[in-house]
Amino acid sequence: MRKPLISANWKMNHNHFEAIQTIQRLSYALSPSDYENVEVSVHPPFTDLRSLQTLIEADDIPISLGAQHCHWEEKGALTGEVSTEMLAKLNVSFVLVGHSERRHVFGETNEDVNRKLHAIISKEMTPILCVGETLEQRESGETANVVESQLKAGLDGVALKNVASMVIAYEPVWAIGTGKNATPEDAQEVCNSIRSWIIENWKAAGEEVRIQYGGSVKGVNAPDLMKQSDIDGLLVGGASLDPDEFSRIIKYRLVD
Ligand code: PEP
Repeated sequence: MRKPLISANWKMNHNHFEAIQTIQRLSYALSPSDYENVEVSVHPPFTDLRSLQTLIEADDIPISLGAQHCHWEEKGALTGEVSTEMLAKLNVSFVLVGHSERRHVFGETNEDVNRKLHAIISKEMTPILCVGETLEQRESGETANVVESQLKAGLDGVALKNVASMVIAYEPVWAIGTGKNATPEDAQEVCNSIRSWIIENWKAAGEEVRIQYGGSVKGVNAPDLMKQSDIDGLLVGGASLDPDEFSRIIKYRLVD
């Protein structure tokens, strides 16, 4: 019912030559049946987007292009920023919003996240809304409250049909790039509470919205995470830079 979405967040890695090579190698490793089972998106740095768009379209590679960040304004005196209009022109399909590195390193607030989310939807792209608690918050039993307040603020004013078609990524901050990952059961528990909260507030959208888990995902742990009933995909950082490892994650069904 919900087609899994596995996304590569390259962060600030791979220049446009390396990006082309990585996507070519990834496309050789994947077969039509992989794309039938799983939707794949790749979120490179901005400087790679045009090169990857050209490659993907010329070679008919069924990988969706994603961005890591955007600004909510259409244009203006905002040095260094990129608008959703610019991303849409490059046929970007998915945009990450509220990634923990944006929240914690660059001070992005829940209000910024909400503005970006509306801007992404207005250009008919799909937001991947990232939520998750810090280690301190987890240890003091605040996980559910933190995640709920990020969802509440992030989704403020979003129409039901847009909540249904968007993606939420549960990424515990303490598991990102640390090699520590939530157990499949812990990840399922939070993803289930996210879905329940959406059902409570957005009715049927809760059954349709796709929920990803992210945080030190690798080929070896992907199958157990993907077995969980409320996990509909994975957001992968470090392990997505290597096309062989990323393809193992996408082929999670073949392991076992
Ligand atoms: C991420 O950047 O969203 C992420 C989950 O990173 P990593 O897989 O490296 O933990």
